Amino acid sequence: MRHRPVRAVLAAGLSLAVLAGCSGGGAAGPEELSDPAPAAAVGDGEATASPVSDPEVAERVEPDLDVAVSTPREDSLYPAVGDPRVDALHYDLDLDWDPEAEHLTASATVTFRATRSAPRFQLDLGRPLTVGRLTLDGEPAAFSRRGKDLVVDAPIEADQRYELSLDYVGTPRPIPAPTTRGDFASTGFTVTDAGEVWTMQEPHGAFTWYPVNDHPSDKALYDITVHAPRGWTGIANGRLTDLTTDDDGTTTSWQLTEPASSYLITLAIGDYSHSSTTTEGGLRVDYWTPRGMTRPLSSIQTAAATVDWIETKLGDYPFDTLGLVVTDSQSAMETQTMVTLGNNDYVLSPEVVAHEIVHQWYGDQVSPADWRDVWLNEGMTMLLQWTYEDEHDIRPLRESLRGARLIDQQLRDEYGPPGAYDPRQFGGSNIYYTPALMWNELRVDLGDEEFYAVARSWLAAHDNTSVSREQLYDHWEAETGRELSAFFDRWITGTRTPGRGVPQG
Ligand SMILES: [Zn+2]
Repeated sequence: MRHRPVRAVLAAGLSLAVLAGCSGGGAAGPEELSDPAPAAAVGDGEATASPVSDPEVAERVEPDLDVAVSTPREDSLYPAVGDPRVDALHYDLDLDWDPEAEHLTASATVTFRATRSAPRFQLDLGRPLTVGRLTLDGEPAAFSRRGKDLVVDAPIEADQRYELSLDYVGTPRPIPAPTTRGDFASTGFTVTDAGEVWTMQEPHGAFTWYPVNDHPSDKALYDITVHAPRGWTGIANGRLTDLTTDDDGTTTSWQLTEPASSYLITLAIGDYSHSSTTTEGGLRVDYWTPRGMTRPLSSIQTAAATVDWIETKLGDYPFDTLGLVVTDSQSAMETQTMVTLGNNDYVLSPEVVAHEIVHQWYGDQVSPADWRDVWLNEGMTMLLQWTYEDEHDIRPLRESLRGARLIDQQLRDEYGPPGAYDPRQFGGSNIYYTPALMWNELRVDLGDEEFYAVARSWLAAHDNTSVSREQLYDHWEAETGRELSAFFDRWITGTRTPGRGVPQG
């Protein structure tokens, strides 16, 4: 997830409501909707902007479910979400959205592996959604609803695979987020005044619109089909495998062939234009922007060059596709292979775009297995964002470091250390600045070459998995041959800001 700039934090005296003035905006604002010449408004005339174009449709492939086998666990901070008995391998979702009635008609087939034998199991599914037909391996199964828990009363056997299918309908509602941040008060399926849809769902909230084991330790593959009204487009993660338009509307299908945690899934439905640019390495980057968006597309079309820049630090882009979708949110989210951006000036900036793309490596390719370790995502990403800003003349690195060090103690006092934070303060600045400062100490000590070599080897060693801080500490110690756990512990769980440098021994 994106972070607010240091300046705003300092100016606001650490108030997390710094963005209150621009949060809670309604549907795409009047300025977005009133543009009479949408096609002309999309580009801003700069060389980087490309005209509106038809998206490319690729052929769907048969998913390899074995790559989605994970080791799900119960979260130490949010244990009510997710079920470690379930290892979801594949979600096949079919979503039909009626914006006028604000009604979702959907079906889901969840292929999963039982991690142990049990008399029953459960998935998370938003309370407002009514379940109709439900079958397990084709046979009707008994189920009950307890709050957001969809409990299936059917025995499962360890290591066997099952197919759960259900139909469900209703008006999905977002849920309160466990945070005091000003740029997101709720997570999940969100409907604008115009009936458009967007989702941001960290640390959880995917269950507001589909049945899911909503925990980052359980990665899975996805096929998502969206039926949108005429003129609108449904956008989700991965490769576009179908785009059909008829009198009833637009049907799009999306396939994710590498496993993703549920908080990294996105869904956006609205009136979208498409354009694209290409990286030097030949990766096409797709941009899905509200038709008639008045903010310049050039500020996010830096994405392609940004991928090239990140690759010089972290190695090859870890996935096959990359897109960005602009929604009515006030935040930004590193949703896997399809970054979700809010529609405001700060979010639509090259540095926030860089932040979310860095997360494709740190956060998406390798994800936290427990929310206590969300700093694994944000620390390295924040350092890379600062480095990007430094190397692109946006803001000197030393200024970012100085600002962060200045408030580190306050952040520890207010939110707790980054690896032992207050669960009601999810996404506080402590999980960004503090570990970024820590990584920078190590970078200075090791030198860029060794630092980034280890940062890359960590990703390669844990490709497409969810990990713990202990695995990270072990990796850095093994690769550098140094005793680093005391250094890491001081930064991640200490109550006082550590001194400079990396103590030896
Ligand atoms: Zn982030």
